[in-house]
Amino acid sequence: MDFELSSEQLSVRDLCRDFARNEIAPKAAGFDETGEFPYAIVAGMGKLGLFAMRFSESLGGAGGDFLSYCLAIEEIARADASCAITLAAAVSLGIAPFVEFGTAAQQERWLPALLSGEKLWAFGLTEPEAGSDAGGTQSRASRTGAEWVINGRKAFITNAGTNISAGVTMTAVTGGSEGHKQISCFAVERGTPGYTQGPKYRKLGWHASDTRELLFDDVRVPADNLVGEEGGGLRQFLRILEGGRVGMAALSVGVAQACLDASIEYSTQRRQFGQAIAGFQATQFKLADMATQIEMARLLTHKAAWLFDHGGKPGVYASMAKLHASEVATACAGQAVQIHGGYGFMEDLPVARYYRDVKINEIGEGTSEVQRILIARHLIKRFEGA
Ligand SMILES: Cc1cc2nc3c(=O)[nH]c(=O)nc-3n(C[C@H](O)[C@H](O)[C@H](O)COP(=O)(O)OP(=O)(O)OC[C@H]3O[C@@H](n4cnc5c(N)ncnc54)[C@H](O)[C@@H]3O)c2cc1C
Repeated sequence: MDFELSSEQLSVRDLCRDFARNEIAPKAAGFDETGEFPYAIVAGMGKLGLFAMRFSESLGGAGGDFLSYCLAIEEIARADASCAITLAAAVSLGIAPFVEFGTAAQQERWLPALLSGEKLWAFGLTEPEAGSDAGGTQSRASRTGAEWVINGRKAFITNAGTNISAGVTMTAVTGGSEGHKQISCFAVERGTPGYTQGPKYRKLGWHASDTRELLFDDVRVPADNLVGEEGGGLRQFLRILEGGRVGMAALSVGVAQACLDASIEYSTQRRQFGQAIAGFQATQFKLADMATQIEMARLLTHKAAWLFDHGGKPGVYASMAKLHASEVATACAGQAVQIHGGYGFMEDLPVARYYRDVKINEIGEGTSEVQRILIARHLIKRFEGA
């Protein structure tokens, strides 16, 4: 067993750390306050090759490994969760469906602009009445000649409404019966008649990440826009979410690390009762617990990424990493605010933003409850099979 990162992985981490420190961190509070989408940062991440890094060179990617991608997400999230989710959603949810299930024609058509970060593509699974129960999809697509006609609504879709958003891969029911719906995936370009977006949601956190409702009213797409096999949509999306969850785990580790960084800095400077508050054992224990939990979350995330790089199936480890890292991040954000006292409640310091930004990590890409269901199902299946 080797816990050392390779020299390539270390250079990705250091490159992203420098970019995040110099280009993102100084602007993060401003993005949070105004909700302005970080176009220049996205362009910068594109120049660094972050959208392309984990995909094969034969498709125009950089041929990097999944672990390097996780290191990049962690470093970006350490500076700003909104920028990190913009990247993670674009890569894990926007690009990956074309890479894993797209036809050569679809890959040629859409991947170049997505891999460079010039355009963003969204992932439309969730609906107003179908969240955790993604199989409850109500959007429908019917075949008429050489086209599919799509009707429905998608809720909470990341990267759907920016000036560089190019479209969405969405699920829709294409047949079957209630309880046994046949679900398929379609690529729908923005600008297709009948495809409209709602206003930006007002959110607790991730203010600079673009999240919208999408509406489909008799939207006609060519038959060639079917992504993957007809009826295989749900299986495909669940597979895509595995990668997404490992990315979300890395994002959580990054925010948790930012909470620890800020807490160490503040507690060694803030003085009460004639000494730095880091001198009190109560503070030291908080720091020690945070550091230990973060390291556990990082190791679990790296193991899931390693499994991706050695066979492509992190399986239950994707759920474990996402569950553990997101809950650790929420706990660390709470402790960071506590260590900062009243100043932690003020928006002048970044920990208030971390506290607001982090909660969604326990909800998006499958809630903590859903991850526990998946992990338990895996355990019971193994028991039954023993
Ligand atoms: C900012 C943001 C960005 C998002 N981006 C995207 C995106 O890009 N694409 C996309 O498709 N979706 C996206 N989502 C949707 C996200 O994945 C869903 O919000 C999430 O899956 C939960 O679905 P829900 O909100 O409908 O909650 P619900 O499914 O209604 O869950 C509500 C509560 O009930 C619990 N619950 C539900 N079922 C069970 C059960 N069987 N057992 C125990 N507890 C249960 C849940 O764990 C949760 O606590 C985004 C959401 C947000 C907020």
